[in-house]
Amino acid sequence: MTLPKTQQVVYLDGTSEGYDTIKPVFDFPVPTIDGPTEMIIKNRYAGVNYIESYFRKGIYPIEKFPYVMGREALGEVVAVGKDVTKYKVGDFVAYVNPNTFAQFNKITEDKVQVYKLKDGSHLKEYGAAIMQSLTALTFITEAYNVKKDDIVLVWAAAGGVGKILVQLIKSRGAKVIALASSKEKQKEVLALGADYVINSKDSDITEQVLKITNGEGVHASFDSVGKTSFETSLKSLRRKGTFVSFGNSSGPVEPFPVTILSPKNIKFVRPQVFAYISTDEEWNFYASQVAELLDNKKLVIDIYKVYPLEKYAEAAADLESRKTSGKLLLDIPQ
Ligand code: NDP
Repeated sequence: MTLPKTQQVVYLDGTSEGYDTIKPVFDFPVPTIDGPTEMIIKNRYAGVNYIESYFRKGIYPIEKFPYVMGREALGEVVAVGKDVTKYKVGDFVAYVNPNTFAQFNKITEDKVQVYKLKDGSHLKEYGAAIMQSLTALTFITEAYNVKKDDIVLVWAAAGGVGKILVQLIKSRGAKVIALASSKEKQKEVLALGADYVINSKDSDITEQVLKITNGEGVHASFDSVGKTSFETSLKSLRRKGTFVSFGNSSGPVEPFPVTILSPKNIKFVRPQVFAYISTDEEWNFYASQVAELLDNKKLVIDIYKVYPLEKYAEAAADLESRKTSGKLLLDIPQ
């Protein structure tokens, strides 16, 4: 296909607590193939992830503005450099790479995590699954290897990552204590198989966890909330439990003296998904498991809403105000 010269993207033109630095623009240059192993993807859906808010707020650094937002997308290969061997024009791929809130993305064959789909069916499901499923799967395997009969605390259990964590943890034969803030979300996580649910706005979460676990506490806490949940996670863990701290939804965890881990010999892990999937071997291992789980319907992805690309700011506001559950997607204009 002949590529247009300009395209629609959503970029940040600076950092802000609010949403005013998010700019949808319609005349951003379309990338061109300059190197032999480059290829251009025409995006179909891009996933919305909480990490975008950290870039916007300046919690994670951005080298240069304007910064085209987005971390994952799914689409069709529309141009390839002369040395690209694994992909051809017409292939459908799901991939993890920056700058995906755009109609077109340039990626380099071996520098980006790409999963080739069998065909162009189920695009929405795959587009909604890739990053959050990889997060949940790598974390329950490597940050804390969840085992049969474990009892595990899952924060934001009705969220994008949370709903996947609940399903995958249950499939290992472990028990889940889910945290969610509204009646509707609580119903949803119980329907997914959570064994217990606690309102994440309650002030006595630890007491409730200790009651459920006969005073022992949980084997692991998968805590994406960060600042406001830190103490509750720590107190809810059993002796030798594992604290998996993986997000900042309420703000980053404050610095703490490592000696607070000693009374119960707690292991503290602060993982990021990208460092678990950075080699080809790791990527293939985990991405193929996710594809198999989706194909066999052993993992179901719940899509909260699909927003038009230019309405990303609305999606971000919905996500950050705690009203969403499951995955938010952007529909990329074709
Ligand atoms: P979610 O869909 O889980 O949305 C966030 C949820 O967090 C809210 O719905 C809310 O659930 C809960 N929450 C609790 N306190 C707050 C608060 N003060 N402000 C906002 N939300 C709050 O988002 P995602 O699935 O996209 O991401 C979940 C988390 O996982 C994020 O923190 C994200 O950064 C992290 N993550 C980390 C990765 C890594 O590599 N380390 C990779 C991917 C995601 P409720 O109201 O029900 O309590």
